[in-house]
Amino acid sequence: MTRQYRITLLPGDGIGPEILAVTVDILKLIGTQLDIDFQFQEALIGGSAIDETGKPLPKETLQMCRNSDAVLLAAIGGYKWDNLPREQRPETGLLAIRAGLNLFANLRPATILPQLIDASSLKPEIVEGVDIMVVRELTGGIYFGEPKGIFETETGEKRGVNTMAYRESEIDRIAKVAFETAQKRSGKLCSVDKANVLDVSQLWRDRVTSMAEKYPDVELSHLYVDNAAMQLVREPKQFDTIVTGNLFGDILSDAAAMLTGSIGMLPSASLGLEKPGLFEPVHGSAPDIAGQDKANPLAQVLSAAMMLRYGLNEAKAATRLEKAVLEALAQGYRTGDIMSQGMKSVGCKAMGEVLLRILES
Ligand code: NAD
Repeated sequence: MTRQYRITLLPGDGIGPEILAVTVDILKLIGTQLDIDFQFQEALIGGSAIDETGKPLPKETLQMCRNSDAVLLAAIGGYKWDNLPREQRPETGLLAIRAGLNLFANLRPATILPQLIDASSLKPEIVEGVDIMVVRELTGGIYFGEPKGIFETETGEKRGVNTMAYRESEIDRIAKVAFETAQKRSGKLCSVDKANVLDVSQLWRDRVTSMAEKYPDVELSHLYVDNAAMQLVREPKQFDTIVTGNLFGDILSDAAAMLTGSIGMLPSASLGLEKPGLFEPVHGSAPDIAGQDKANPLAQVLSAAMMLRYGLNEAKAATRLEKAVLEALAQGYRTGDIMSQGMKSVGCKAMGEVLLRILES
């Protein structure tokens, strides 16, 4: 029987429209092959939304996203909007959509593809076989805690304040996502905190530890964030799934991502308790190469694979997409960002055509 999904597309700015167009063509093909009826609808976000409506996240966009089964976002931002006040900046639209859809869990895989092992800045023997999933809490912690701001003290000196705070319920729901993610992978979960110094981290550690009883098939460990950062570059293969708070996750997921050496290859998923999830590449809008058919569309394509797996429960379609990406790399096709000697250089559109050809064969 045909499965029907309503997908909201948010092309955004810069290279966004280019990489999303390639991805949509691929999804359409997979849909016809696997009897999936994707109903795509497009909406504005970021700089392009500011230009048309004055707001980085128009109300209509949020409403359309809420009424869909999944949201596929490309990237937002660009020089043109860099000097606007914060509430009118493209990035504000990104924070607003995450909050508006209550997306509290961010999943970022860092997988070393054998074809791209030389792209890593670490030695091949250190990174070979690395396959990490960072589960980052996204809507709490120090980025949102109150009080925050820059205040004047009694002496007239300014004092900047942010507050790192987590409620038990916030920790429990992200821990649940992390335990379930670890179950789908190799069953190893490492929780990262700073419980030796921070009270908020002690509560984090206590809750995660008590939740472990419900998941006897998951092996739980804990690391302090400073040690975790060190271990990630020293011996990354020891990690499978990592769960951590907003600030630590922001930093560690970038460090884990760079193990792979290629920002144009990295997808992400942001999930809430209910649909829709938001699926987007880790990279930004790359204004320096926008409109030149130079962008690597693979992070966007792999984000669509995460949408299929984690957002729509279409694992077969996700695997098919991931295999096509591996096959394109195995056949030697490379965009500029991952190009190396002896490989076949292609642009964004041509990479899409290679994937379509592989999927059709
Ligand atoms: P960026 O990720 O856009 O670019 C960093 C470098 O990587 C650039 O040299 C770029 O050309 C390259 N690059 C990125 N994606 C690529 C791809 N798919 N293929 C080939 N090369 C790629 O980061 P930045 O330069 O710091 O930011 C540019 C804009 O993007 C800013 O306005 C920033 O705020 C925004 N941004 C948006 C997001 C998002 O939409 N989630 C994330 C990060 C940055």
